[in-house]
Amino acid sequence: MTTTFTNLRDIDGNAIGIRCAGGRIEALGPDVTAPDAFDGAGRLVLPAFVEPHVHLDKTLWGEGWQPGYRAGKLRDYIENERRVLTANTTPPEDRAGRLLARMLAYGTTAIRSHIDVAPDMGLTHVEAMFRLRETWADRIDLQFVAFPQQGLLCRPGTTDLVRAAIEMGVETVGGLDPAGIDGDPDGQLRFVFDLAVEKGVGVDIHLHDKGDLGAWQVERIADYTEASGLAGRVMISHAYCLGMIPEARLARIGRRLADLGISLMTSAPADTAVPPVEALTAMGVTVCCGSDGIRDAWSPLGNGDMLERAFLTAYRFDWNTDEDLRRALGCATHQAARAIGLADYGLHPGGRADFVMIACDGPGDALCRRPADRRVVRRGQLLPAA
Ligand SMILES: [Zn+2]
Repeated sequence: MTTTFTNLRDIDGNAIGIRCAGGRIEALGPDVTAPDAFDGAGRLVLPAFVEPHVHLDKTLWGEGWQPGYRAGKLRDYIENERRVLTANTTPPEDRAGRLLARMLAYGTTAIRSHIDVAPDMGLTHVEAMFRLRETWADRIDLQFVAFPQQGLLCRPGTTDLVRAAIEMGVETVGGLDPAGIDGDPDGQLRFVFDLAVEKGVGVDIHLHDKGDLGAWQVERIADYTEASGLAGRVMISHAYCLGMIPEARLARIGRRLADLGISLMTSAPADTAVPPVEALTAMGVTVCCGSDGIRDAWSPLGNGDMLERAFLTAYRFDWNTDEDLRRALGCATHQAARAIGLADYGLHPGGRADFVMIACDGPGDALCRRPADRRVVRRGQLLPAA
């Protein structure tokens, strides 16, 4: 079925129409029109947002208010989450499904979600997220990471579960602070990369370890990526350490990350150093922004809107020029798509016909104001207004 959308503005302000067929963009440009076209009323059109890092299985979206929790150590947060989620009786896929409905309405149609894998829950969260994926397959592309939230080597039995999760169809092997949590950086990285190579999947490592210890692990991840031939399939999430090291070392590390196609994800937190997105992007590193937890036991903050996450990224760095704001939008669109390996992304003939039409005065206005008036097209089909 062919669908046409007219009276749109692209990111450069050009008036365009888009024709879609078979879930792809067939044509786009100033002359594309059709008698039965949807009138975009001058809306800005962007490729649909991509959420490269969220924890859908943890969200308490739609549950009663869960007050935030403050602790000194990562371990305390992990234990607190176990208490909260153990007490919650709503199936994870129900909680996550409510959040997906919001994310879709905001204009996100592709998501990478981490899924907790640990001895106390076994593979139950993986099974729940697979049910979620099946239910939502026509509306949102979901890919998963097997995430050892409680540690990989320090919790006996977790490596077997991660392996089983990958064999069930999870696309990416996760890691968590190889030094800070497991206390055995080479042991964790060896397992993660060996399994990824064996199964032909990617790697995504949460790295909160700071300063030199963190930066050393980034270098080790680069070593393992190079040795295992997994260039282009590795992401490091958070990597606060890259905002804490001297410029010369950052430049050396940035070059390696760019050469090896290792991408970075930041949630742009305001309370700690973060990777310098502008400098790293200029070095050719793929840097994207992600929500991380959304209304869960870690924090009640977050709403699933990638336009807001891009705004927070701009805010974090005090970006204000049009070029800056476009870079922020890029972190939630093209860079995020590249980071998670999404094929045929972007507004071009042959590209996936997933886009969002936003009532606004251009990309800067969209970012700063985050308008509620958005219409979303998925595989060429206009979704009902939210
Ligand atoms: Zn995370």
